[in-house]
Parts: sequence; C-alpha cells; structure tokens
Amino acid sequence: MTTSRQKELLKLHSGIRKCRKCPLCKSRLNAVPGEGTLDSRLMIVGEAPGKEEDLQGRPFVGRSGKFLDLLFDITCFLRKDFYITSSVKCRPPKNRTPRPKELKICKQNWLNKQISIIDPEIIVLLGKVALKQVLGASSKLDKFHGRLIRYDGLTCFPTYHPAAAMRFPKVRKNMLQDFKILKIISVKNKR
Ligand code: URA
Repeated sequence: MTTSRQKELLKLHSGIRKCRKCPLCKSRLNAVPGEGTLDSRLMIVGEAPGKEEDLQGRPFVGRSGKFLDLLFDITCFLRKDFYITSSVKCRPPKNRTPRPKELKICKQNWLNKQISIIDPEIIVLLGKVALKQVLGASSKLDKFHGRLIRYDGLTCFPTYHPAAAMRFPKVRKNMLQDFKILKIISVKNKR
C-alpha cells in the first residue's frame, strides 16, 4: 500500500528531478534527490553531487560514497539505515562549492521538505557546507563535530565530509571516531 507520506516523498523526488529554479539545472545531467526509506531514523546531508552522482542520479556513488561505505562497514551501519541526500541536488560545474543563492533556493524548495517528510531522529551533517545549510553556522566544524546539536526542533550531528577525510589523515581519524560515537548514540536513542 502506498501511504500519503510515500506519495509526498515520491512527488518531492520527481519535483527535484525536474527542478529549474537555479542555474545549476543548466549544467547537470541528472538531479540527485536522495535515497532511503521513510522509516530511516538517520539522515545524511552532504554538500553536492559529483560527477558519478550526476551520471547515475544517485547520492554518494563516487569516491566519497565508497569512503562512506567503508566507514559504514567499520562502524556496523548499513547504507539502508540512512536517508542520504545533499545540500544541493545538482552538480555544480567543475565541482565548485555551491553558491549561497543556490543553497538557499535548494533548502527552501527541497531540503526543508525532505527533512519534514523523513522526520529523522538525527541529521548527520557532512562538512562545512552542510553545517551551514542546516544549522546556519559557518566554519565551526572543528568545534561542533562528533556531538549532537539541537537547533530549531532538529537534532544534528556534524562531522567531516568524506572528501576531506580522504585527503587528511587527521580528519579521517576524527571522522571515524565520530561515526563510532554516532553508532553508540543511535543505539541509545532508539525511539
Ligand atoms: N558529495 C556529496 O556531498 N554528495 C554526493 O552525493 C556525493 C559527493
């Protein structure tokens, strides 16, 4: 049976695939709405789709996704434990950082609605762009990562973006530690 929440989510995904509300639609091959089920207790918000995500229309299927899968394996999570999406749904040209206007449009039209339909217990924010997009906080990731932040009715868990973890061993170590903490919190927090 298709529930009304399922219908809402499918409608939202199809709206995202057709979206022409910001200039990123001009260069994308496929918009990447997100993946995961309605009963996901955990939601991941990344930065923006990259080349492979743009080709496949699926989130985190490129190098960053492989790294994330490795973290899931080590910390005994499954991909299906999460609803996975990004701050903007279309790949920025040459993988540049999404611009403030693009982030604002995508948040108002899509991300906020996604969060309200999924209603996750914890939103895992990957990197500075996601931190700013959801919490409005800039450049405080070193201070905020690895713990729960409650803001505006949401419970968020900021950590690093896989791309940074792949480049810097210290970030990699911190991100792994954060996911171990997330595992403990998510087991304790079961509603
Ligand atoms: N990085 C992101 O933030 N999102 C993706 O989907 C892929 C890479």
